[in-house]
Amino acid sequence: MQVPQVILRRKSKDNIRALHPWVYKSDIEKIEGEPAPGDVVCVRSPKKNIIGYGYINRASEITVRLLSRDELHLDRGFFMERIRSAHAYREQSIAGTNAYRVVHSEGDFLPGLIIDKYADTVVVQFLTLGMDMRRDLIIEATAEVLMPSRIYERDDVNVRKYESLEQKKGWLVGGGETQVQIEENGVRYLVDFEKGHKTGFYLDQRDNRRLITGYVKGKNVLDCFSYTGSFAVAAAVAGARSVIGIDASEDAVTLAARNAALNNCSGKCRFQAGNVFDELKKYDAERRRYDVIFLDPPSFTKNKASVDEAYRGYKEINLRALRMLNDGGILLTSTCSHHVTDEMFKEMLKDAAADARRTVRVVARGAQSKDHPVILSIPETEYLKAYLLEVINP
Ligand code: SAH
Repeated sequence: MQVPQVILRRKSKDNIRALHPWVYKSDIEKIEGEPAPGDVVCVRSPKKNIIGYGYINRASEITVRLLSRDELHLDRGFFMERIRSAHAYREQSIAGTNAYRVVHSEGDFLPGLIIDKYADTVVVQFLTLGMDMRRDLIIEATAEVLMPSRIYERDDVNVRKYESLEQKKGWLVGGGETQVQIEENGVRYLVDFEKGHKTGFYLDQRDNRRLITGYVKGKNVLDCFSYTGSFAVAAAVAGARSVIGIDASEDAVTLAARNAALNNCSGKCRFQAGNVFDELKKYDAERRRYDVIFLDPPSFTKNKASVDEAYRGYKEINLRALRMLNDGGILLTSTCSHHVTDEMFKEMLKDAAADARRTVRVVARGAQSKDHPVILSIPETEYLKAYLLEVINP
């Protein structure tokens, strides 16, 4: 049987030829054959040269997602091989943790599929119809490659709506407690994969958590947007004198305190529920000063249109943090928005430092950890940028 053919328009985006996986409805000239939702199709250039193969969902603006230059059978063997090779890459590039992302969607040429491993528990997300309809194959392949004792589905995610998929979560394999203890670089954390953000933990900040451990010994630390205390507790374990964490989520703050206790650091950690914008303003007015501040806000922009507004948000918190640091103080600041480019982020920091009348040295730069791969031809795979700045007094 012939694979249905998707012919691109003359004006389709150039990046598709470099196997950027997103083929938008507006890129398509015509479709030959009658592909059912989720079927494999062959994508061709306007001159009919084969670009690659992917799965189709005509109900989605991103109508085809490419997976390969070569002909495809999305069977158990295919998923076994992709998951196995993604896992092999992690085994080579990730160390010191039993929690990591095994499959990062486009970053592993499995668009629409997330697989996170937390100790013996695996959490999956099927974000597209093409992946969702193959869930049984994927679960089988995951079980065989990773041999977890349990697999949990976290499909209460907004993007599924764009694919006409319902919201749901629950056990796929095994069951029991919906919190699991992980260990990362000697620090223990409880991960709530039922109620937590994403699949429960910000795995992508692992390298930056490690980065800060060299700068916190004996210091007074403020962790803004602390969620379940991943940075705060890492700092406490690394010898910080005192740590305050602030987050808007009560549940996150409660779990952060439990994480401190789990590492025998309750004495020096304090977590409070609050709005970082308000608290920083208040703390600054009270002339509180810190040696180390972490700023790990949520993405302030999901699209290009609101980048200016996001810039102002980032600048406000960075300006205040820079003002509140003692001389020689350290700021770890990050943005997880793809739309905020490195240039913009750096410009914002320069701007904030000037307004705060501080001079800063760039001690180190950080990025998303390696289990969230960046594919050069897919710019959207690169999203997390971080700077470790030191306030100097020339
Ligand atoms: N640093 C954390 C991850 C932070 S994610 C870690 O490593 O685990 C961003 C966090 O900011 C979320 O936990 C969210 O609850 C919180 N948040 C969002 N807006 C906020 C605000 N205005 N004030 C305080 N917290 C906020």
